[in-house]
Amino acid sequence: MNNYFSRSKEEVLTEFNSSVNGLTDNQVKSYTEKYGLNELKEKEKKSTFIVFLEQFKDLLVLILIIAGAVSMAIGNIESTLVIFVVIILNAILGTVQHVKAEQSLNSLKALSAPNSKVIRNGNKIEIPSNQVVPGDILILEAGDLVAADGRILENYSLQVNESSLTGESESVNKFSEIIAEEEIALGDQKNMVFSGSLVTYGRANVLITKTGMDTEIGKIASLLENTQEKKTPLQASLDDFSKKLAIIILIISAIIFGIDVFRGTPILDSLMFAVALAVAAIPEALSSIVTIVLALGTQKMASENAIVKYLKAVEGLGCVSVICSDKTGTLTQNKMTVKKSFVNGKIIEDKEYNLNDETEKLLLQTSILCNDSSAEGGKEIGDPTEVALVNLGKIYSINELELRNKYERISEIPFDSDRKLMSTSHKINEKNLMLTKGALDVLLNRVKYIKTSTGVREITKEDIITIEKTNREFSENGLRVLAFAYKEIEENQSLTLDDENNYTFIGLISMIDPPREESKKAVHDCITAGIKPVMITGDHKITACAIAKEIGIFKDGDLALEGLELEKMSDEELKEKVDKISVYARVSPEHKIRIVRAWQEKDMIVAMTGDGVNDAPALKQANIGIAMGITGTEVSKDAASMILTDDNFATIVKSVANGRNVYKNIKNSIRFLLSGNTAGILAILYASLLALPMPFAPVHLLFINLLTDSLPAIAIGLEMGNDDLLTEKPRNSKDSILTKDFVKSISVEGLLIAIFTMIAFHIGLNFGDAALASTMSFSTLCLARLFHGFNCRGKQSIFKLGFKSNKYSIWAFLAGFVLLTAVLVVPVLQNLFEVSPLNLGQIGLIYILAIIPTVLIQAYKLLINDNSNTDKKNLSNSNKDKSIAA
Ligand code: ATP
Repeated sequence: MNNYFSRSKEEVLTEFNSSVNGLTDNQVKSYTEKYGLNELKEKEKKSTFIVFLEQFKDLLVLILIIAGAVSMAIGNIESTLVIFVVIILNAILGTVQHVKAEQSLNSLKALSAPNSKVIRNGNKIEIPSNQVVPGDILILEAGDLVAADGRILENYSLQVNESSLTGESESVNKFSEIIAEEEIALGDQKNMVFSGSLVTYGRANVLITKTGMDTEIGKIASLLENTQEKKTPLQASLDDFSKKLAIIILIISAIIFGIDVFRGTPILDSLMFAVALAVAAIPEALSSIVTIVLALGTQKMASENAIVKYLKAVEGLGCVSVICSDKTGTLTQNKMTVKKSFVNGKIIEDKEYNLNDETEKLLLQTSILCNDSSAEGGKEIGDPTEVALVNLGKIYSINELELRNKYERISEIPFDSDRKLMSTSHKINEKNLMLTKGALDVLLNRVKYIKTSTGVREITKEDIITIEKTNREFSENGLRVLAFAYKEIEENQSLTLDDENNYTFIGLISMIDPPREESKKAVHDCITAGIKPVMITGDHKITACAIAKEIGIFKDGDLALEGLELEKMSDEELKEKVDKISVYARVSPEHKIRIVRAWQEKDMIVAMTGDGVNDAPALKQANIGIAMGITGTEVSKDAASMILTDDNFATIVKSVANGRNVYKNIKNSIRFLLSGNTAGILAILYASLLALPMPFAPVHLLFINLLTDSLPAIAIGLEMGNDDLLTEKPRNSKDSILTKDFVKSISVEGLLIAIFTMIAFHIGLNFGDAALASTMSFSTLCLARLFHGFNCRGKQSIFKLGFKSNKYSIWAFLAGFVLLTAVLVVPVLQNLFEVSPLNLGQIGLIYILAIIPTVLIQAYKLLINDNSNTDKKNLSNSNKDKSIAA
């Protein structure tokens, strides 16, 4: 019988030989063998052979096949052979690249795979979710993703969102008792949790009954989201560009073919000309190079603590214009230490508690009892705010375990950042007490009495004024303040939200959470890079502003807003003021969505951090959702497009720089490929219009486009980022990569290379025949493009960039140079690539002609670009100085 929901807990535990202490190591081993890993099968993957066949769907391959056929028709067997070998090589390369890209994405996915907490051998441990087996006792807390199906054993107000199964977006309450005997729908099986659900509230211990494909979601695996990576906007627009370019080129080729035939050139020769033009023009390597550079970018970012889940995000990061960041743990260290407290109407230091005073003793006890964290044996586990309180107790030798055993927790309402309170109930000295801690502004409204050394009395206006004044004082110093209160309740009363009122105030405890050392510089870099940093926190406005000022987020003239004030604002109003607001305090996750939207309506690209269970919608709404790898819930990691493994704001800024660098490198690679192709096209058009012999055979262009050009293009893609990356404004995501300036430089550089290629061609024609001329023009074009690789490394001259700062570009040049030389001097290759032997003088001439365009381009950069960059740097340095001074 499989209906776990209708059986008793004991019966289900017996079925798996499990107990509330979890499985033993041997049981885990045997269950893992029996049930396998807890994984859902992914949709059928394409076989490598299919991927290989798909490579032939390309327009380029079609043109190459035509070229091969024409070569065969004119009896050029060697050329035909080369063309077909190239087609097959190209398909193999495409397949390898596809498989590699998939592997690299899979390894990134593995890095961001979820974990689960289970009890095994009586200990709570964290394991990768795919290692959970039936019989395991799974511990669920708000923010967890349920890893497998299971029967609830112990329940503390658990609420889960089962929308992936039932489509119902509202969270449902769960219970631990038996619900029904008969078969009922999943949504009604209230004592069960199902794989793929999200825990939105509360806690529970669950006995796992089904894993992997046996789970309910496994049964409907066809509904699973398609995990295939979609093309990034850049990839899609380049694909689109390539297609349009191909069509234009085909039309021009057809016209050239028509003109040639009209002139009386033999049809096959004319066809060869047209095909050569098409081969010269189509940037074959473009899409693979973009994918390679993006994939390498993600690997670099992963090594720098940012796991990017989608290639799209690498690109998007480069356009980020606003970073909305949580405060606690991201901008600050999340290492809390208690400083001052307020009790009995006076402020005391952490070491000044008097345990003989009942109120002070109760404040300390409450801070440890209404607390889920532990610092036993120096090992700190749990929320740092709560750990700080346990550490405070240690100063007075209060043993957390002893205290918690002595006054056992009877009932609880867990902390959540919307409510900003946590409550527990205990029997203390024969009294049933409800203990509550949380944000003062929430708690103070619910207080009726105050406990002082002289006893409990009604709270007065003066008391409230003093408490609020003290709170402000603490907050202005950047301290986080927690308020503590209690009330008497009925014996065994199970706590509900309605009980959180009519309290007796005990006191305040404040704690310091220093900013991370790197935050100040990261915020400063952000501002220099034209990016607006915004702090969004659940903490108090004054505390938030104090920290924001310290690290440079909040400046004179900026605004700070509280969640309540935000609620009163209309969307229009918010949109109007949004660029002035640097700090949002006491916000709940729903407010975050409005903030993101307001910025987006101003055409800003927003990166937003989040860690809590309710942050998922805001993370999805943001252009780049960023989850915290250490403190973040599984739900937030699932919704994010990037995960920080160090939870650090500075890592976001570093990722933006990386994103900008990747985009810049891709743009430079494209510039390199397209300017080289332009040179080829112009040379062919020139020869065709002047009725000269053909300057290149299709194999020449294939050799250049697929072999000697690919390596420098990848090397350019690997160019390291420099300081300049964060001195410019963010790029507009809507801007096309092919801006006017970009097209202009491609045309000018292409023309320059074409001119010297044609000079080589004419020299060949004058001193030899058409074959020599074509060999000279091919070699000059090939070598000039190899040299041109150095020009495309960046805006500045090679002297400024540093010759050795990109070793790949030197290797790429040398590899291309060796390949070209091999083709020119090895007799078999000479035959295959249709080149005539050259003498030393001719080779020397080629070297000189090929390097001239690069000398000219470098001279231009030296005179114009290097100077203008220095100007810009000086300007940005003086801006930096100004902002530091401010
Ligand atoms: P962030 O800056 O990352 O948004 P935060 O830690 O400042 O996060 P929350 O965790 O939502 O924000 O906390 C909001 C408020 O709730 C805090 O200012 C504090 O008053 C109160 N609070 C925080 N942690 C606890 C807790 N464990 N128990 C009770 N109250 C808490």
